[in-house]
Amino acid sequence: MLKMVVCIKQVPMVSELPWNPKTGTLKRELAEGMMNPACAHALEAALQIKSRHSGNITAITMGPPMAEEVLYEAIAMGADDGILLSDPAMAGGDTYATSYILARTIERQCPNFDLVLCGCFTSDSETSQVGPQLAEELDIPAAAYVEDFEIKGRKVRMQRISDNFLEIMELAMPGLMTITTRSYVPRYPTLGSLDEAFEHQQIKTFKAKDLGLDLKTIGRSGSPTRIINVYSPTAEKKNVVLKGTAKKVVDDILAGYGDKISGVIGKDLKKK
Ligand SMILES: Cc1cc2nc3c(=O)[nH]c(=O)nc-3n(C[C@H](O)[C@H](O)[C@H](O)COP(=O)(O)OP(=O)(O)OC[C@H]3O[C@@H](n4cnc5c(N)ncnc54)[C@H](O)[C@@H]3O)c2cc1C
Repeated sequence: MLKMVVCIKQVPMVSELPWNPKTGTLKRELAEGMMNPACAHALEAALQIKSRHSGNITAITMGPPMAEEVLYEAIAMGADDGILLSDPAMAGGDTYATSYILARTIERQCPNFDLVLCGCFTSDSETSQVGPQLAEELDIPAAAYVEDFEIKGRKVRMQRISDNFLEIMELAMPGLMTITTRSYVPRYPTLGSLDEAFEHQQIKTFKAKDLGLDLKTIGRSGSPTRIINVYSPTAEKKNVVLKGTAKKVVDDILAGYGDKISGVIGKDLKKK
C-alpha cells in the first residue's frame, strides 16, 4: 500500500479579486480561497495511483485558518486525511521557510511515506521552488514538471517534457514529484462528498510548537528572501517614424532597438 502526501496551497480566486489601482496589488483579504489548480492535478494523480495500487493519501496545507477548506475539498475528492499548519508565527514565510515547515511535518506525521506530490507552481506566487526545496529538506530524489507516471515496484517511471523533448525517467521511492496541469484532470467532488467531508471529517491542525519548530527558522525570521516591491507591469506603445536612406534607417533601428532584436532572435547583432 503506497503512502502518499499531497501538498496543497490555498490561493485567492483571482477572477473575483479586486485590485488596488494605486498600489497595483491584489486585495487578498477580499478574496475567496480556492485550491491551487496545479495542486488539484497533483491530488488527482495520487487518487489515480491509489485506485490502481491501493494507498493512503494525506493532504497537507500551510496557511491561514481558512486554508482548511482545501483540505476538506481534498478529502471530498478522495484523500484520506488532512493536516493544516497554521500559526501567525508561520506567516510571511518565503519558499525556504515553507519547505522547511512542510518537511518537518512530513517527517513527524507521515514518516514512512513513499511519494510526495506537489503542484508544479502556484497561481498566486508561481515560484515553483517549494517542491524541489522540500525534496532537499527531506533528502529524497525529486523530479519537477512531471506529465505522467506509473509505479514499477519501488520505482516511479515518469514522462517529462523539457525544452520540447519528451524525457522518460525513473525515480526511486521515497521520492517527490511536481505535477503539471496538462494531464491528470481533477475530478469534481460531489455535493454529497463535500457535505460528508465538511460535516464529519476532522482536520489535524498544528502550530509551530506542536511540531517542535524553532521560531527563528519559520515565518519572516526564517525567510532569507524579501519582496521589495509588487507592481503591475504596464506595456507602453509608441510609433516611431524613421527617415533617411535605407542604410540610415537600418543603422537607426540597430542603434535604438538592436539589443531587443538580438534578444528575440538569440543572436548578438553587434558581433560582426
Ligand atoms: C498564516 C499564513 C499566511 C500566509 N499567507 C500567504 C499569503 O498571503 N500569500 C502567499 O503567497 N502565501 C502565504 N502563505 C504561504 C507561504 O508563504 C507560501 O505558500 C510559500 O511561500 C509558497 O510559495 P509559492 O506560492 O511560490 O509556491 P510554489 O513553489 O510555486 O508552489 C509549488 C507547490 O508547492 C506546494 N506548496 C506551496 N506552498 C504551499 C503551502 N503553503 N502549503 C502546502 N503546499 C504548498 C504546492 O504543492 C504547490 O503547488 C501563508 C502561510 C501562513 C502560515
